[in-house]
Amino acid sequence: MIVILLGPPGAGKGTQATRLMDKHGFVQLSTGDMLRDAIAKGTELGKKAKSIMDAGKLVEDSIILDMIRERLVDGNHKKGVILDGFPRTLTQAEELDAMLTEMELGIDHVIEMQVDEQMLADRIVKRAAESEQVRDDDTVEVLQQRLKVYHDSTAPIIPYYRVKGALSVVDGMQTIESVASAIDDIIGGWEV
Ligand code: ADP
Repeated sequence: MIVILLGPPGAGKGTQATRLMDKHGFVQLSTGDMLRDAIAKGTELGKKAKSIMDAGKLVEDSIILDMIRERLVDGNHKKGVILDGFPRTLTQAEELDAMLTEMELGIDHVIEMQVDEQMLADRIVKRAAESEQVRDDDTVEVLQQRLKVYHDSTAPIIPYYRVKGALSVVDGMQTIESVASAIDDIIGGWEV
């Protein structure tokens, strides 16, 4: 099963992806985590990505697609793959489709987590305070830029998936448990 979690920064994608991994044994592929890992390791990719991420902009499609291609290996999907933070542009969505078609796979569910954007600044400030990992992009100033990028570049993929009939919407303003159970209802009691 392949599930995509979509939503603005702070919507709770990472929280729900981690839960799906722990509860259902999904493999979580988070492009944000991969990039932060590259930064922590000081790789060339990490050096290149850091300033882009800190500015709240998007890392180049080709870099992101290479990272995903490497990890979306045969076999992962048997457990279930949860894509968190990817795709983020129409090009990424189209290339993902092409990759999956080649693997004779398809996307099972795209789950859009809708949130009240007025509340996101509070969430981001809270996340920055609670997180062990320091993220230079988790500030109210960068959030505004990330939200703009979300509306300009990522939101257009919502109709792309709606037309394909793969899109479900959950209210991301509920408690973590209620969001989790709404997601479980969508994916339909998937167990491995
Ligand atoms: P959040 O879940 O808070 O939106 P992420 O951890 O998913 O944050 O992403 C952090 C940053 O990493 C983004 O603002 C962007 O710079 C970069 N990034 C992550 N995923 C992608 C992607 N699919 N395409 C381009 N850039 C990405």
